[in-house]
Amino acid sequence: MTTPLKVAVIGAGIVGTSTALWLKRDGHDVTVFDRIEPGNPNQTSYGNAGLLARSSIIPVPTPGLIKAVPKMLFGTDGPLFMKWPYLPKLLPWLIPFLKGANEQAVRRTADALSNILGDAVDQHAALAKGTDAEQYITTGSYTFLYKDRTAFEKEALSFSIRAEHGFTWDEMDRDALLQVDPNLGPSYTFGAAVRDHGWITNPGAYTSALFDAFLAMGGTFNKAEVDDINGTDNAAQVTANGEIHTFDRIVLASGAWSKKLAELLGHKIALETERGYHVILKDSSIRPPCPYMIGDAKFALTPMQMGVRAAGLVEFGGLHAAPSTKPLDLFRRSLRRIYPEIEWQEEDTWMGHRPSTTDSLPMIGESTKAKGIFFAFGAQHIGLTSGPKTGRLIADLIDGRRPNIDLSPFASNRFD
Ligand SMILES: Cc1cc2nc3c(=O)[nH]c(=O)nc-3n(C[C@H](O)[C@H](O)[C@H](O)COP(=O)(O)OP(=O)(O)OC[C@H]3O[C@@H](n4cnc5c(N)ncnc54)[C@H](O)[C@@H]3O)c2cc1C
Repeated sequence: MTTPLKVAVIGAGIVGTSTALWLKRDGHDVTVFDRIEPGNPNQTSYGNAGLLARSSIIPVPTPGLIKAVPKMLFGTDGPLFMKWPYLPKLLPWLIPFLKGANEQAVRRTADALSNILGDAVDQHAALAKGTDAEQYITTGSYTFLYKDRTAFEKEALSFSIRAEHGFTWDEMDRDALLQVDPNLGPSYTFGAAVRDHGWITNPGAYTSALFDAFLAMGGTFNKAEVDDINGTDNAAQVTANGEIHTFDRIVLASGAWSKKLAELLGHKIALETERGYHVILKDSSIRPPCPYMIGDAKFALTPMQMGVRAAGLVEFGGLHAAPSTKPLDLFRRSLRRIYPEIEWQEEDTWMGHRPSTTDSLPMIGESTKAKGIFFAFGAQHIGLTSGPKTGRLIADLIDGRRPNIDLSPFASNRFD
């Protein structure tokens, strides 16, 4: 360890909390700033599908996506939604994002993501070890469900890239699926159960338990909105609720809200919110035996402590627009197709903000414009999975340890 440093972490979602806990374990004096409590429903880390999706190295833009967009947007049961007045603001992000829908870009992204996702289950276990958060980690397969084998084979490129990165899966016909899940409806006749995954049975409580462990080690929480940050050779400053605080290092881990603060430093940041939804069936009559990814509907179904959570879908509409009702109706219709006999009395619904860059890679590393300020945001659909490793990498950088992976794909200045 270096001499203990005074470090500020802005954001107490899974990324900020993981970073704060690793920094504290390294002996630093750490203050976390957030305008809300960790585990609050306004964090994206609260409402995700809970998957430790180590094989999710394939970005959303893949070959064929551009042709598929009209059906995804306008077709019955299409999984993509748009708040149309937001489109002009979205275009400067959307165009480069869609340009990534080619094999070369997908392979490049997968190579980089595999470095931060591959050992995710172990990274979560190491972070949670000895804390109350351990109880929320479950391990098992992650099963992709398809109408039939042909639908699975349409994703051959994604699965062959996964195989190249060492992921293995069991292919299951309808009989094999029914053996583990007799309630599964006739619409799904093929599955690919990707081995050695994990899931979090209560993502909000998990972040909150990790944060409690940070506090128990002497970490500090400052519940405040951060308005400005800056870094010089000598010190880094955080302005929160109008008050200036001085640190040795700052970590910006503010999820989908990071763009404004990073741009104040002089960076260009290609960050957008991919809004996503969940519905929890609190007292559902049927539970899936493991998490499913529903191939046609593009959402996950995860057995959790609170009930069965259907989570996913994508809506573009920015950080401020109110939630929509159509994505929730889509969940309800799809659930009847997955489990025709399912009944539930009560449900909770939620909308949150995935922090997504145009190249589908997070920003991890020191700012090239402001010394002592580190970026840890932008992990799109996989931020829960990659959070603990991201936190460890940032703690390594701050402590002067050289990470054993190539961090250049995640560089802070790549959109400048
Ligand atoms: C529907 C859905 C399903 C998903 N499923 C999965 C999944 O199964 N597996 C997976 O790995 N990922 C999943 N994700 C993605 C994952 O949830 C996110 O990538 C991750 O939670 C981002 O974590 P974060 O800590 O960066 O951001 P957040 O959890 O959003 O935390 C950011 C924090 O920063 C604070 N903040 C922001 N600005 C300021 C400021 N100026 N001052 C003070 N505080 C500030 C906010 O209050 C917030 O608490 C899913 C996302 C969605 C929407």
